[in-house]
Amino acid sequence: MERAYQLVPDILRSLIPKDKIGVYVLGNIGLSRFYPIYIGRSDTCLLTRLLTHNYRDKATHVTWRFTSSIKQAFHQECCLYHTYEEQNFLNGVHPASPKESGLICPVCSYIQVDIQSLKERTKQN
Ligand SMILES: [Zn+2]
Repeated sequence: MERAYQLVPDILRSLIPKDKIGVYVLGNIGLSRFYPIYIGRSDTCLLTRLLTHNYRDKATHVTWRFTSSIKQAFHQECCLYHTYEEQNFLNGVHPASPKESGLICPVCSYIQVDIQSLKERTKQN
C-alpha cells in the first residue's frame, strides 16, 4: 500500500475520484507506524465507502489502492486480510466474494491445494 492519509472527508474527496474501485486499510498512526484496524474493498465507489464507513471514528488514517477489476480488488483484499489476520483487527470474518462472482480467495485455495497434496503424498507412502 502507498502512504496513509488522514481519514478526513475533504482530504478523501480531493484524492479519490468518484466511482473508482479498490481496496483500503483503515488504521491509526502510533510511534511513526501505521497500525491497521480494518481491511476492506469497494466494488462500486471507494470514496463513498470511506466517507460512510462504520469505523471512520475508530481510525485516524487510511491507505488505499485502486484496482482495474472487481476480481483484482477481491484478491488484493484477501491477501491483505491474510497478511494482517494475526493482529486483532476489526474484521470479524473473511472477506466475502463479490456477489454471484464465484470467486474464491487465492490464499485459502492455495492452502487447500497444499493440504490436499500433503494428503496424497502421505497416502503414497
Ligand atoms: Zn482466504
